[in-house]
Amino acid sequence: MKAVVYHDAFKVSVDDVPDATIEEPTDALIRITTTNICGSDLHMYEGRTSVETGKVLGHENMGVVEEVGPGVSQFKAGDRVSVPFNIGCGSCRNCLTGWSSFCTRMNPTEGMDGAAYGYANMGPYDGGQAEYLRVPHADFNLLRLPSGTEHENDFTMLSDIFPTGWHGVELSGMQPGDRVAVFGAGPVGLMAAHSAILRGASEVFVVDQQKDRLDLVREIGAVPIDFSAGDPVEQITEATGGTGVDRGVEAVGYQAHDHSGEEHPELVLDNLVQVVRSTGGIGVVGVYMPEDAGARSDAAKEGRIGFQYGTFFTKGQSMGTGQAPVKRYNRQLRDLIIAGRARPGFIVSHELDLTDAAEGYDRFDKREDGWTKVLLHPVR
Ligand code: NAD
Ligand code: ZN
Repeated sequence: MKAVVYHDAFKVSVDDVPDATIEEPTDALIRITTTNICGSDLHMYEGRTSVETGKVLGHENMGVVEEVGPGVSQFKAGDRVSVPFNIGCGSCRNCLTGWSSFCTRMNPTEGMDGAAYGYANMGPYDGGQAEYLRVPHADFNLLRLPSGTEHENDFTMLSDIFPTGWHGVELSGMQPGDRVAVFGAGPVGLMAAHSAILRGASEVFVVDQQKDRLDLVREIGAVPIDFSAGDPVEQITEATGGTGVDRGVEAVGYQAHDHSGEEHPELVLDNLVQVVRSTGGIGVVGVYMPEDAGARSDAAKEGRIGFQYGTFFTKGQSMGTGQAPVKRYNRQLRDLIIAGRARPGFIVSHELDLTDAAEGYDRFDKREDGWTKVLLHPVR
C-alpha cells in the first residue's frame, strides 16, 4: 500500500510499504478516506524528535472498516468510523477513568504512558497517512459515524484537534460567561476558540501574528490579537478594562517564538500567567517535551521550561496539561456536528491526494499564507 514515510528532517515521501493487516483478534483494519497533517507531525518533520526512519506517519485518521478480527463485536466491514489518535487498551487504570491518552499498557517506551499512531515515543504503531490502518482494541477505540460522505471535513477533526481544543478549554475550568484567551491560532487554537464559543464564553481572544489565521479568528466571532503589533498581555488587559481574562488556553507549544521568529519556549506560559486573573485557570495542550534535541537553549533541550511560576503561585491559578483523551469527548462533539451546531471543518484550507503529501508537509511547515489545515485523501 502507499503510505507517508519519514526519512529524515524535512524529508517525507509516499512509498510502497507492506499492507497493514489484522495482527490481534481485537484489531480492525480501516480503509482510510481522510487523514490530516497535524502541527504535532511537524515536531517530527523538523527533526526535533527521535522518530525512526521508516515510520509511517499520521494520527488524525478516519475511514471505513475493511475487516475486523474475531474478537471485535461492535463493528463490521463497511462501518464508517473516526479513529482517536490515542490508542487505549480500555482496561487499565487510566483508560477506565477516562484518560485513554495516558493508557499504561499500550506504550512500551520506558516512562511513557499513552500511545498513538505514527508518532515518536508513542509506541510501535504505524500511522494512517496511508491507504489502510491497523487499529488495536477496535471496540474500545473506534467511534461510529453516520454512513455516507456527509460532513467528512468536520468529522475528520474528531480524531484529534477538535477534542484537543475542547480539552484545553475543559482543563482551563471555563464556565459559561467567562472571558477566555487562546494563544495560537493554528488548527488547535482555532478549535479551542470554536469550543469556548460553543460552551458559552462571553468573549474569546485569540493571539497569533499570522494574518490569514487571525482572519479566521474574526470570522468565527472571536477577537484577534496580533502579537507582532504589541505585547498581547497589554492588548488583552486593555480590551478587558484592566481585569484580564478568567481562563487561558495554550495552543502553541515549546516552539513558541517572539515576533521576530526567535524561539522562547517559556514565552506563552509567561503571557498566560500574566493575563489570566487571580484564581483563574490555564489549559495547556500545546506540546512540551521532556527532552527536545532541536531546542535552541540547553534548558529547553533538557525539557526545563522556566516560566513565571512565582506569578502563577501568587495569583493562585490552576493549570492542567497533557495529551487530550479524545474518547472522553468525541461522541458528543460528533453529535454537535450532526446537529449542525459545531462546524470544525471551517479550518480546512487544502485537500490533497495522499501522493502529494510531501508538498503538504513543506507548505504547512513553512506556514505559507492560507495553509491552515491540510487533509490527505488516498486515491484509488
Ligand atoms: P501550528 O504550529 O500550526 O500552530 C501554532 C500557532 O502558534 C502558529 O499559528 C504560530 O504562529 C503561533 N504562535 C507561535 N508563537 C506564538 C506566540 N508567542 N504567541 C501566540 N501564538 C504563537 O500547530 P497546531 O496544529 O495548531 O498545534 C499547536 C500545538 O498543539 C502543537 O504543539 C501541537 O503539537 C499541539 N497538539 C497537542 C495535542 C494534545 O493532545 N495535547 C494534540 C494536537 C496538537
Ligand atoms: Zn494531531
